[in-house]
Amino acid sequence: MENILSKDLDPKFKFDVEAYPGGENIKLCYACGTCTAACPVAGVNDDFNPRKIIRQVLLGMRREVLSSPMLWQCIQCYACYAKCPQNVKFRDVMKALRALAVKEGHVQADMAEELVRLEESMLKLRRDAANLLVADRPKYAALKQRVDECLASLKS
Ligand code: SF4
Ligand code: SF4
Repeated sequence: MENILSKDLDPKFKFDVEAYPGGENIKLCYACGTCTAACPVAGVNDDFNPRKIIRQVLLGMRREVLSSPMLWQCIQCYACYAKCPQNVKFRDVMKALRALAVKEGHVQADMAEELVRLEESMLKLRRDAANLLVADRPKYAALKQRVDECLASLKS
């Protein structure tokens, strides 16, 4: 595990997040982990952990958080938002972190728009796959194989 040096921590970070629309309640988190347990992205990616991201913000790990691809993996689904006992609204905290990441130059300014386009493509793929699953199993199997190959190639 990477060591955290106190000289690299930014004690202002949590206040900057708190001041951004959506980040207002971040300091209410008491680290119960309910958000992580409810999150569908955490369910398929052990490295994605809303509770940990909040701890990192509160610790002042500005560069690590704002430059992390984890910020852009959230699908903005509200599961964490609905379950949080402290009303932290982590979905909205993510929006605040994304805005700060763009503002501070960690990602290109069109990142949010590109994600919307990607999500539209994913939804169309899911729609077509579901149609094939009902109507044409061999074509569905061929599509699934191509998707699996594509995912495997991203890991290699
Ligand atoms: S559910 Fe709420 S209080 Fe619990 S870790 Fe997540 S944000 Fe913090
Ligand atoms: S809004 Fe994001 S962090 Fe919250 S449960 Fe959904 S995917 Fe996970």
